[in-house]
Amino acid sequence: MKKITIAIDGFSSTGKSTIAKQLANALSYVYVDTGAMYRAITLFAIQSGFIGGKTFKKQALLKVLPSVQLRFVYNEALGYGEIFLNGVNVEKEIRTMEVSNKVSKIAAISEVRQLLVSQQKKMGKDKGIVMDGRDIGTVVFPDAELKIFMTASPEKRAMRRYKELLERGDDVNYDEVLKNVQDRDYIDSHREDSPLTQAEDAVAIDNSDMGLEEQFERVLSLANRIIEKA
Ligand code: C5P
Repeated sequence: MKKITIAIDGFSSTGKSTIAKQLANALSYVYVDTGAMYRAITLFAIQSGFIGGKTFKKQALLKVLPSVQLRFVYNEALGYGEIFLNGVNVEKEIRTMEVSNKVSKIAAISEVRQLLVSQQKKMGKDKGIVMDGRDIGTVVFPDAELKIFMTASPEKRAMRRYKELLERGDDVNYDEVLKNVQDRDYIDSHREDSPLTQAEDAVAIDNSDMGLEEQFERVLSLANRIIEKA
């Protein structure tokens, strides 16, 4: 059977990665979390002292950017690839509030986007991929056979994210998480380079009041219909 490309875009904490992972497992496709790539570059910038407090040394970051190594290593037990930054597994470190608060600023830099988009295109060149992010259906794979655009109210998204962070043992409050979700929505949709927007041919799913199972079944049936005809 022919393999297709599936692009899943949408606002922060809409559950894109959960659906994308389930879909990739069901179809035996590769799953790529592009948000993890932007987060890993942000972590690198923090660790290198290029961003923090009022500091933002963009030129210094750009100078060393080509030497930063990002790699996904498949974790059999989890069923997806974990991100490694310069040889170190940073899956946990990239999900902190500190990284969340800075990532959209780093992701708005054109040179960062060019580098990551070219890596993402290479990962998907043989199809059989489910990739989630903000610009997958519009920029990375404009020819993807299936494009999904996920959305939900900021309050619902913030509550989901808040619960996730609490479960991890992070010390956060709901208002802080809601503000982060709203700030990222704004920066991601207003940046000059590839702003977050729904592709014309994307199927929109508002999951404010939809369970995971219902969403998954809907997306899987859309994918199977396209795969049968491919
Ligand atoms: O998906 P996640 O919330 O982990 O993404 C973190 C941030 O990375 C987003 O808020 C956005 O600023 C950036 N991003 C992006 N383009 C992508 C994926 C993520 O700009 N394709």
